[in-house]
Amino acid sequence: MNATTDVFPLIQRPKPIRVPDVMEESLDERERAALIRRIKRLLVEQDAKLVAHYYTAQELQELADATGGYVSDSLDMAQFGHDCPNSTLVVAGVRFMGETAKILNPEKRVLMPEMEATCSLDLGCPADMFNAFCDQHPAHTVVVYANTSAAVKARADWVVTSGIALDIVRYLDQRGEKILWAPDRHLGSYIQRETGADMLLWDGACVVHDAFKAEALSQMRVEHPDAMVLVHPESPAEVIAQADTVGSTTALIKAARELPARKFIVATDRGIFHKMQQAAPGKIFMEAPTGGKGATCVSCAHCPWMAMNSLRKLAQVLETGDNEILIDEAVRAQAVKPIQRLLNFAKQRNQVVLGNNDA
Ligand code: SF4
Repeated sequence: MNATTDVFPLIQRPKPIRVPDVMEESLDERERAALIRRIKRLLVEQDAKLVAHYYTAQELQELADATGGYVSDSLDMAQFGHDCPNSTLVVAGVRFMGETAKILNPEKRVLMPEMEATCSLDLGCPADMFNAFCDQHPAHTVVVYANTSAAVKARADWVVTSGIALDIVRYLDQRGEKILWAPDRHLGSYIQRETGADMLLWDGACVVHDAFKAEALSQMRVEHPDAMVLVHPESPAEVIAQADTVGSTTALIKAARELPARKFIVATDRGIFHKMQQAAPGKIFMEAPTGGKGATCVSCAHCPWMAMNSLRKLAQVLETGDNEILIDEAVRAQAVKPIQRLLNFAKQRNQVVLGNNDA
């Protein structure tokens, strides 16, 4: 097989990404209880459902579950929004998740607790540079990960999630198509190694997963020989190589439940521990090692943008109606096509996209 993987040497690089500090909300018990009561009342008054990502704070996930909302990954969150009858969705996650919800649910009002909550993959792949990249490689099929802006999705032939990316790339490879992949280079090269497809990769990374350290992980495995290792494929190849299970957030939660170990080392955002503990009570979950604060780790296993979501901001947005996601209709109509292609592919393969997706 003559397949190649190239991380494209970007002629013009996106501006360096400024990663904020992780700022978690601090509330006393009385404040927390009052906010939760207020949010519950507002959700009913506003005919709204809360959909929260696995990486958000435990109390947001609990509130989504307790009010008939939903906790999952990005596409799954958008699909839930489509299926629920409510007219407003409040998306606790990052910007591209709110946009995906709006792309699939244009008739609904989509609000976000924090509009500045974004993603290093999305920030590292600006639409104008991405369009130029695609223009330079017109013979390639453009496949983008869900962690991209609506404008980047609008340029794609396919949107994929980590749960189904391998199947879609294999299918395209069997048709003899060359693939232009964006934005995560680690996920792209993992898929290339697994499928042998001919892929040209955009040079992006997730600040959380990129920070996991292979050598320190080897050491941790020596110290915990009874632990199994769960790794999200946005992590570096040397970390993935040590995994007992590599997979999407949902796949990792399933592995935590089903694998025989009592102890796990987990290389993804620690926000996922809440659902892992629910899925596998009594098991022990440990963060995979990062560079550590003050060293090369900027996020230390927790996404600073996910951490911007808070109970206070959620209450405020429900009260004011601020932070509504609006997408130009021409962009939305274009962006929905590659998402729909993904959904049709999953349906034809009888694969459940719901609960089987990306970060
Ligand atoms: S964890 Fe990584 S991929 Fe997920 S939103 Fe944060 S920066 Fe983006």
